[in-house]
Amino acid sequence: MTIYNRIRYLLFAAAVLLLAAGPSAAQTTVDRDTLYQVSTIDALMAGVYDGSFTCGDIRRHGNYGIGTFQALDGEMVVVDGHVYQVAYDGSVHEMDDAVRTPFAAVTWFEPDISFTLRNVASIKELEQAIDDRLPKKNMFYTVRVQGRFESVTARSVPAQEKPYPPLAVAAKKQNVFHLGPAVGELVGFRCPAFAEKVNVVGYHLHYIAADRQSGGHLLDLAGGPFTVLVDETPSFHLDVPTSGPFQEIDLSGDRTKALEEVEQ
Ligand SMILES: [Zn+2]
Repeated sequence: MTIYNRIRYLLFAAAVLLLAAGPSAAQTTVDRDTLYQVSTIDALMAGVYDGSFTCGDIRRHGNYGIGTFQALDGEMVVVDGHVYQVAYDGSVHEMDDAVRTPFAAVTWFEPDISFTLRNVASIKELEQAIDDRLPKKNMFYTVRVQGRFESVTARSVPAQEKPYPPLAVAAKKQNVFHLGPAVGELVGFRCPAFAEKVNVVGYHLHYIAADRQSGGHLLDLAGGPFTVLVDETPSFHLDVPTSGPFQEIDLSGDRTKALEEVEQ
């Protein structure tokens, strides 16, 4: 190699290295502490059940999270990069990347905090026990609770037909499951007060059994011991539909009371 060719080669090699390492490394670091979400909870409350994003889109932004499916067809639980549907009848199905979602949130789960809870008598007790160990009031936290569930009360919702009713109406037809004893886990988020209208303020957890045969939106539980894993998620990325009903409805107004009824 002549000196000239050698310099050209070195410059080329340096450019390749920069291209390979630079942007992707930076993006990975940012993305991994990001709560990625499509649409808003108030749009879902208002009956925007047609999805502009797919399960494949969701899986590109995280491996743990929760949501729902096209036409409000059941509860979504994302675990280990698998997207599960807990259908209205309680059956659990792994969903294809092409299936659409009107509302979902995920993150790349890397726990910063972990602790054990021995005996938990109710969802209120669980939330209080986790709150006691999470001193930051205005942080997005991704929460996983793994262990032995003595009992779980969970629900799913039926797929809706157009014209879509608001979520408060659709959720009245919810199917409530009394599950356990079983080994399983809870997946979800604790969102800060400023996330109002965008996501559920406080805890929003979905349950899935270790055998992936049952699950749903968590209403109550008892059991233990539980391993609680928490990922501080200080970055937030929201993608909203750029056309269709989401861009046509009035999203002003306070839906907190109705949301409380839907969640509990
Ligand atoms: Zn839910």
